[in-house]
Amino acid sequence: MENIYLRESPSKIYIEVTTRCNLNCSMCVKQAEGCGIRDGDFDLNLSRSILSVLPDINTVILSGIGEPLLYNSLSPLIEICKITCRRDHVLVFRVMACLLKSPEFGSY
Ligand code: SF4
Repeated sequence: MENIYLRESPSKIYIEVTTRCNLNCSMCVKQAEGCGIRDGDFDLNLSRSILSVLPDINTVILSGIGEPLLYNSLSPLIEICKITCRRDHVLVFRVMACLLKSPEFGSY
């Protein structure tokens, strides 16, 4: 039997920053009858609390069902990650890319 190594604290966290999306893909789970996923945004104030109790986070994945680029507090959240997470952490997000042409994302 393989040895199982358990970390004392998680190293990776997913944060679904929004369930809102600028697209309406027919295969999206949000389009499924009775799925019940409402549009909503992650509470930025929770990020400090969550990350402060997870000292070994080296990967923050800012994705879920919605389009992360629609999240109004994306810049502050990235700043919080920079301050709170390990220095060698990486930020990952999957975007649909349609919004990347927007001038507000020029600095990323
Ligand atoms: S969340 Fe993804 S699958 Fe759903 S509508 Fe948006 S882009 Fe399409």
